[in-house]
Amino acid sequence: MKAVIALGGNALTGKDRKASIDEQFDAMKNTARSIVKMIQNGWELVITHGNGPQVGALLLQQEAAKNVTPPMPLHICGALTQGQIGYMIQQCLLNEFRKKKIKREITTIVTQVLVNENDKEFSKPTKPIGPVYSEKEAREIKKRHKMGRYENGWRILVPSPQPISIIESSVIKKLIEKNVIVIAAGGGGIPVVERNGMLYGIDAVVDKDLASQKLASEINADILLFLTDVEYAYLNYGKENEEAIKEASIEEVRKYYEQGHFPAGSMGPKIKASINFVENGGKEAIITSIEKAWDALMGKTGTHIHR
Ligand code: ADP
Ligand code: MG
Repeated sequence: MKAVIALGGNALTGKDRKASIDEQFDAMKNTARSIVKMIQNGWELVITHGNGPQVGALLLQQEAAKNVTPPMPLHICGALTQGQIGYMIQQCLLNEFRKKKIKREITTIVTQVLVNENDKEFSKPTKPIGPVYSEKEAREIKKRHKMGRYENGWRILVPSPQPISIIESSVIKKLIEKNVIVIAAGGGGIPVVERNGMLYGIDAVVDKDLASQKLASEINADILLFLTDVEYAYLNYGKENEEAIKEASIEEVRKYYEQGHFPAGSMGPKIKASINFVENGGKEAIITSIEKAWDALMGKTGTHIHR
């Protein structure tokens, strides 16, 4: 069986999303322990992950050091965090393999994701990234970036275009056929556009759930598994009549989506990605918490979305 596991912020940084490096490693060790069971059971795996807190910190570093060394653009920061987080996942999983005497290889692929330069997001960016700035700081930053006003200050807004395809999906496919575990499409992939047949990095952020789905469909994965900090997707989440969705067809889930049960910044993209995955021939998309990964695969828990 072939699966794409999409790790959320919680798998990498713990609940408050601004963990120290030791805390990040602790969170990652916990995640490694949870997914090693799939590896022991012979699953072919691609692991994708978010990069929100890491890329936010890196952007802040660019800003703070701009008088010392030239600030790097967002697509370069995306590439840097793929290396940073890929390294952490590799090391934590390899150590778990050593403990359990598992003989599997693992590698990270720097991954580009093709987007359309005419995507409407480029004229009207919606995705807030990085830290919150004061009015005074924002005045300066606005000279270089689009910004949006939030409750507690200003944030940089970047376009979040739809992913069209994953540039490296064929090499990823070859690696998993050789039984290599691949970490890819980190942070939703590095967004690139095509001009006269050539690729160029562009300052945008592709949603990691949607990019994970693209990759999962392109490599013909059976399962797309979202590991986040809730055991289920719920109807009426956080309300008195909250109800876990244990199993649903894409028609049912689409109806719930239209009824507004899944917000755009969190559960929405996982649901949308799940629908796309199943529509494109995937067997099943599963949404659950990191701790419950194996139980969910065994059908004991989690939200299961199928045809
Ligand atoms: P990740 O980093 O894993 O992508 P997100 O924060 O983007 O995590 O999405 C998971 C969060 O979605 C949960 O922590 C929960 O607070 C929120 N959420 C919003 N709506 C729902 C819902 N209907 N069911 C479950 N969780 C929901
Ligand atoms: Mg998310």
